[in-house]
Amino acid sequence: MSGYCIKAPGHEIHAHYHNEQYGFPLTTEHELFERLCLEIFQAGLSWEIVLKKRPRMVKAFDKFNVNKVAAYKGADIKRLLADEGIIRNRLKVQAIIENAKRLIAMRDVYKDKALKGFSAFLSYHHPLTKTEWVKLFKKHFKFTGGEIVGEFLMSIGYLPGSHAENCPVYKRLKKEYDVPWRNAEKKGFKYK
Ligand SMILES: [Zn+2]
Repeated sequence: MSGYCIKAPGHEIHAHYHNEQYGFPLTTEHELFERLCLEIFQAGLSWEIVLKKRPRMVKAFDKFNVNKVAAYKGADIKRLLADEGIIRNRLKVQAIIENAKRLIAMRDVYKDKALKGFSAFLSYHHPLTKTEWVKLFKKHFKFTGGEIVGEFLMSIGYLPGSHAENCPVYKRLKKEYDVPWRNAEKKGFKYK
């Protein structure tokens, strides 16, 4: 997202995401799931459309509650594809429901002291390069190509590159947050 740090602050649609969410660590399952879904929804569209429709999508997908989405049946798919307020794409909706099921299965496989499921999966495999993450995501999820996985992981702090170094948010993240990619670099991991 080159230029995002110039365009986004103060922008009606982008400011909140850029200033408070992009590149910030996330661990709760429904928030991680939401973010992955938003990146899937973006494929072929602009991020601005996704952010505009985000509140309606959160509502339509039961706040991205993984259990609820995993249980969606034909009638739910019909309802979602008829909802003009969201991004309507059958393949994306089906992939999202399938991914919810896979996240549930992940809860029994990935556990550590504080984390479980998706967040434990991420922290277990961290650190990896983008190429390695993409391979891993392709094994575990649907509709997760290179751009989707790269953006998703950048947006939750598992890959570097969300903000330009002279962006105030970059400085804030560095000073006030425990960001996974930065910790890995400190320990000598090379992302490139
Ligand atoms: Zn920025």
